[in-house]
Amino acid sequence: MLAPPGAGKGTQGERLAAWSGAEHIAAGDLLRAEAQTGSALGREIAACQASGDLVPDQIVLDVLIPAITAAAARAGFILDGFPRNLSQAVAAAELATRLGLTLQAAIYLQAPEAVLVERLLNRASQDGRSDDKADVIRHRLQVYAETTGALVPYYAERGILVSVNADQPPDDVTADIQARLSRLPGAPAEPGRPGLAGRPALAGRHVMTGRPCCGTPR
Ligand code: ADP
Repeated sequence: MLAPPGAGKGTQGERLAAWSGAEHIAAGDLLRAEAQTGSALGREIAACQASGDLVPDQIVLDVLIPAITAAAARAGFILDGFPRNLSQAVAAAELATRLGLTLQAAIYLQAPEAVLVERLLNRASQDGRSDDKADVIRHRLQVYAETTGALVPYYAERGILVSVNADQPPDDVTADIQARLSRLPGAPAEPGRPGLAGRPALAGRHVMTGRPCCGTPR
């Protein structure tokens, strides 16, 4: 799932995981958990997160690869917040190749910046994340625009970009994503429509896998 802060990656990622049976792997959550251990690595992560900068790629990979590898051996995964720059995208493609998988869809949640800022400021009053402060929110949006946004054309060129309007009520966003993913081979049924007979749905290895080649760097 590829989206600016506040677009709803976490909410939609959890819903998609419940719908598909795949595991929701949220990069930000795993990094926050590591930060809370208070280790030297954790302190470095916490500093990056508090300032709204990206955590160095090698740390991200060290934290995520075990979770991705384990999920790949079970029911597959929905990656939320990874990759976030081009070198992570290349690393993700290489990892997929190593695991015998290819990325099946890059779900891009789009919403106007004013909507994102309003959502993040509202969330700040509820869950007290260190990076949900006005100046850090601005910086996170800038990092997204300057770095992560480049992944939109990257995945469009690879033919796996699924763009969804995230400036709608959460249920409508979920329905749109499900409708789009339902058209992929081996996908679960759209609500109210019969699924693909006998197929175990997008669950499992199908979520980020499927067609050969798509996820590999060109
Ligand atoms: P949001 O998308 O709202 O910023 P996340 O929980 O996805 O929330 O990310 C919070 C922070 O965690 C980021 O600002 C960054 O510091 C760190 N982070 C998450 N994913 C990555 C990643 N793939 N690469 C580097 N840093 C990351």
